[in-house]
Parts: sequence; C-alpha cells; structure tokens
Amino acid sequence: MSHTLSTLAYLVASVLFILALRGLSHPSTSRRGNLMGMVGMGIAILATLATPGMRPGGIALIIAGLAIGGGIGAVIANRIQMTALPQLVAAFHSLVGMAAVFVAAAALLAPQSFGIGVPGAIHRQSLLEMSLGLAIGAVTFSGSVIAFAKLAGRMSGAPILFRGQHMLNAALGVLLLLLVAGFVWSGSPALFLLIAILSFALGFLLIIPIGGADMPVVVSMLNSYSGWAAAGIGFTIGNLLLIVTGALVGASGAILSYIMCKGMNRSILNVLLGGFGAEAGGAAAAGGAAQPARPVKSGSPEDAAYIMRNAGKIIIVPGYGMAVAQAQQVVREMADLLKKEGATVEYAIHPVAGRMPGHMNVLLAEANVPYDEVHELEEINPEFAEADVAYVIGANDVTNPAAKTDKSSAIYGMPILDVERAKTVFFVKRGMSSGYAGVENELFFRDNTMMLFGDAKKVTQQIVQALQK
Ligand code: NDP
Repeated sequence: MSHTLSTLAYLVASVLFILALRGLSHPSTSRRGNLMGMVGMGIAILATLATPGMRPGGIALIIAGLAIGGGIGAVIANRIQMTALPQLVAAFHSLVGMAAVFVAAAALLAPQSFGIGVPGAIHRQSLLEMSLGLAIGAVTFSGSVIAFAKLAGRMSGAPILFRGQHMLNAALGVLLLLLVAGFVWSGSPALFLLIAILSFALGFLLIIPIGGADMPVVVSMLNSYSGWAAAGIGFTIGNLLLIVTGALVGASGAILSYIMCKGMNRSILNVLLGGFGAEAGGAAAAGGAAQPARPVKSGSPEDAAYIMRNAGKIIIVPGYGMAVAQAQQVVREMADLLKKEGATVEYAIHPVAGRMPGHMNVLLAEANVPYDEVHELEEINPEFAEADVAYVIGANDVTNPAAKTDKSSAIYGMPILDVERAKTVFFVKRGMSSGYAGVENELFFRDNTMMLFGDAKKVTQQIVQALQK
C-alpha cells in the first residue's frame, strides 16, 4: 500500500470515528455508532498492517499483540457485569496511560526506529511531544488506578484531604514543567525517569481528594486525559490516525466532563485541580457517624400496586440499585400495565444516576422503554409537583435534598430530582443504607414517603403480579 493510500485509509477511519461519536450521542443511533467505530478500527488496523516498509516480523508482532490483547478483552467483555463497567472503564483508561508511557520510553531508547533521531541526539520537538505523552500518560495511569479502586469499593470513596494538599499539587505541577523543559533541552534519560515518577505521584494526588459524588466527572476527565496522552504519542511516532483519534477522545471526554460538571453544579477547574475548594473535614459526611434509629413508614408491594393503580401520573426514578438488580425489564412491564390502567408514566434521569454517564439510558433502552418517556433532570423536575407517585427504584443520592440544604454534605450544590414534591414517594431499596456518597437521605423519614424494602427486581415483580390480579 502506498503512503497516499494509507493516509486515505486513515482519513476514512477518522471520519468513521467522528460518525461513531455522533451515533453514540443518542440511544436510538448508538448501535450504528458502535458499528461505525468498529469498521473504522478495522480499516485502521488493515492500513497499519499494509504500511509501506512494514517487515514480516513487525506484522507478526502486531498480530500477536492483537490476538493476546483482543482475546483478553473479549473474555473480559463477555464476563463483565453491567454494574462493574465503570471500574472496568477506569482500568482500561489506566492501560491507555501506561501504553503512552511505554511508547515514550521506547522512543527514547530507540529513536531511530521512529525516525526522530539517534540515541543522545533526538529532535527537540520530538522530546517535547514525548515528555508530554509521558507526563499525561503517567498521570492518567495512576489517577485511573485510584478511580478504579474507589469505584470497585477497594478503597473508601470518601475524599482524602490533608493540609497543604493544594500547595503540594501546585509545587509538583511547577516542578514537572521545569523537568519537561530540562528534558527537552538535554534529552537526559534521568530527567525522563523523574518526569515519569513525578507524574505518577501527581495522578495519585489529584484523584484521592475527589469525593464520591464527584467521581463521574473524574471518570470522564481521565477518559479525556487518556485521549490527549494517545495524541501526544501519535505526534512522537508520526501517526496521523493516533493524533486524530487521541484528539477526538480527548475533546469528547473534555466536553463530557464539562457537561457532567454543569449537571453536578461543580466548577471544572476545581475538579481538574484535584478537588480544589474541598476543605479538609468539610466533606467528611461520607460514611457518617451512626445515627439513632428513626421511624420510617414502610409498605408492601400490594400497597404500592393499589396506590399506583389509582394514580394519574407516575414518575419512575431509576438509580444504581436498578442496575444491580437488573430490574429494567420488569420496570417496563410495570409501566405498561399502569399505562393500560390509564396512567401517564414517565422516567426521570439524573445526569449522574448509576455509576457511569448514560448508565440509566442504556438500561432503559435495553428494556425498550420509549425514548419520549425518558426525560432529563431540568425537563422533568417541574413535573414532580403534579405527579401522584414518584417510584424511586434503587436511586438515593440523586434525590437527596441535603444537596440543597446541607453545606457540609459531600453532595452539596448538586442539583437533585425533586421527588419529594410528588404526592407519594416510594423508595425501593433493600435497607436504610446510604448511596455512593455516603450521605443519609432525609426523604426516607418524610410523611409522604413509603419505603418498599427488598431487591428492586423482586419488589417490582410483586407489584406487577398485584397489578395483574
Ligand atoms: P446511589 O449510589 O446513591 O444509591 C443506590 C441505592 O441503591 C443504594 O442506596 C442501595 O440501597 C440501593 N440498592 C443497591 N442494590 C440494590 C438492589 N439490588 N435492589 C434495590 N436497591 C438496591 O445511586 P444513585 O443512582 O442515586 O446515585 C449515583 C451516585 O453514584 C452518585 O453519588 C454519583 O455521584 C455516584 N457516581 C456516579 C457515576 C456516574 O457516572 N453516573 C460514577 C461514579 C459515582 P440499599 O443498600 O439499602 O439497597
């Protein structure tokens, strides 16, 4: 394949990646989007294998890498539970970061293979690209490992704050810039190593202060970083497609972070700088001290079925627990029965419900819930006042009024779904435990709340049975 042809193939692949992103922006077109991404990646791999000057040994290595990596990826994708997807995504981001570190190291050790000079005399521009790829890659790696540990529950989701944290981060940032400048000037392998170590430390320090409720923004931000790391490496190895794809991932991740920040009422700068603005001890509500037991009103699925049968407007609020219980299908069955009884049924989606962006939309689409019944927070919030029932299934933090009233709360400032305005609020959950952010929900104790204790799928199934009688 000639250079022109392979550039053309890369261009086609880039366009397909852009169309894939466009497709993924709505549930109805997301399958097509995924397909376009796969075709684009197929073309990219074939064009890479057919690159002029590619030696058989190189081709064999690429195929072996594809077989091993692709094989492991296929096994993991088949086995993974939907609820474990967020931590898997974080783990995969860490691999992208580490790949960038390795490629930068390879370029430093064997620059002649990349056409960027010879050992000890690498072009300045390449040294700059290499060090940026290395620094962003290393920050992405260690940051993603912490995000993985927090999301998988291997470490507490509560923010880890200490005195002088921001000064330390700022000092490390400045030192890193100086080291990059020194490396570009000297090409010294010792400075390369120092940049790597400092960046690993910075990634770790930037993510530990992020509290439970801010994790969604961090996940999409690390996604963005992994894209920029790939783009930096694309410059080093002179690969057009890697530059374009990395920039696409970087830009779309940054846009998603911005959208999530708006949804969470957070400043993107604060999150970028590692929980800047969070005070030591301020968000310590997570986990919280044990509260004396307070009475709650609880009911049976039959009670809930009776009330819902007589309701005119029902708003379903899905959350993480619905994903855990895989209750989406039976929720739709319940909605179908209620619609047959003459009720209006709508779904309210909070931007950070579940454990990954778009989590609830994916589940509802899987259960074939009509898209026009699914509404975003701003759209649905005014409607709760007219609703007879808010059926909150496995959601907790996204309904918690502490976000509006309690300045010391980890979720303070986050807009919430105003379920409390509905005439009756059902909370379907297994017990009284708090949500991801570890904040107690005052709504459980309100007069218009009825707790429906049990697994989300089982409780909803029992309601369906009662409605069918
Ligand atoms: P929450 O984590 O606030 O609450 C989920 C609730 O589901 C729990 O209180 C739990 O209560 C209940 N639950 C768990 N399993 C079941 C089950 N099998 N059946 C019934 N109930 C169950 O979820 P929300 O969706 O309201 O909020 C999402 C939270 O996650 C936010 O704090 C957000 O910041 C955070 N987050 C979101 C990410 C995203 O990208 N969307 C990423 C990372 C974090 P019980 O144990 O009593 O059953």
